[in-house]
Amino acid sequence: MLQYGLEVTMKFLVLYNPMSGKANFHRYIPKVKKIFENSPHSVDFYQSKAPKDLTRAAKDLSSEYDVFLAAGGDGTINEVVNGMMKSTVKPILGVLPSGTANDIAAILGINRSIKRSLNIFFNEEPVKLDVNQLNDQYFIYTTASGMLSKISYDVSRRRIRKYGYLAYVIEAMDDISKDYRYPIKICYDGKEENYEVVMVLGLNSNRVGGVRLVNFSNSKLNDGLFELRLFLRAKSFWRFRFLQSFIRGGKRIGDDVQVAASKFEIKTNPDVRWNADGEYSTNGNVIIQTHKEAISVFASKRIKNKYFMYVPK
Ligand SMILES: [Mg+2]
Repeated sequence: MLQYGLEVTMKFLVLYNPMSGKANFHRYIPKVKKIFENSPHSVDFYQSKAPKDLTRAAKDLSSEYDVFLAAGGDGTINEVVNGMMKSTVKPILGVLPSGTANDIAAILGINRSIKRSLNIFFNEEPVKLDVNQLNDQYFIYTTASGMLSKISYDVSRRRIRKYGYLAYVIEAMDDISKDYRYPIKICYDGKEENYEVVMVLGLNSNRVGGVRLVNFSNSKLNDGLFELRLFLRAKSFWRFRFLQSFIRGGKRIGDDVQVAASKFEIKTNPDVRWNADGEYSTNGNVIIQTHKEAISVFASKRIKNKYFMYVPK
């Protein structure tokens, strides 16, 4: 196990996707190199060559580095994590947000300042984070189906680059005008329940789509549990109630159901689409499970104290 301190040299690999969001990470490379020159650590760079290339690279290079820095948006981080989860040796993960959607970085308390982020990676002790799984895909922070869940991947890269979050908002308004309604049978902790829903929203914390849902839950990022909110298709005013919940910070409203467990089995219609970390993942029946403290990550001191069950040494 590595010891953290000034005298320790760690090998970092920056994995980045040149096409991620608005900013091309490429132009920050000289800055990153310069910061590393004034540290005891070393750094290499790996640029993605095709979709899912970072998953393969992360898996193949896991034993060669102490730290992987995933530079990009949530999609880039998801690719790296999927590779790490397929390897027995796992480097520590750090995230350098430079995409359009940066929820994972925000959840870990990492902002866009490269200097401040690297300062955290060089000095903070890493902490263990739960990793979740939707069928055969791993994800960090969210999975969803139904209302709003197809938005992030339906907005083209070009539109995101041009309009940023405005594109999401416009898509969201259009989506809310549609009528979503699908049956689910959900099994967890030996229980089996049936509902008709407009959306299933699963989160590891209280943030999704760039929005903080302070009233969604008080769960921890390493408690081995994942939380689902089932937005029910009530007889009347369901659209109003749905919006009201989001306006009120993700507060559970009316008969909507909130469940926390380490494993869910959900049976639904074959045309129901599920996303994972904001990208399309699969259709129909799913198994959602949580791997407690599966990887080590760097997070800010404030986040470690607030969102992790964590005892500072
Ligand atoms: Mg949790």
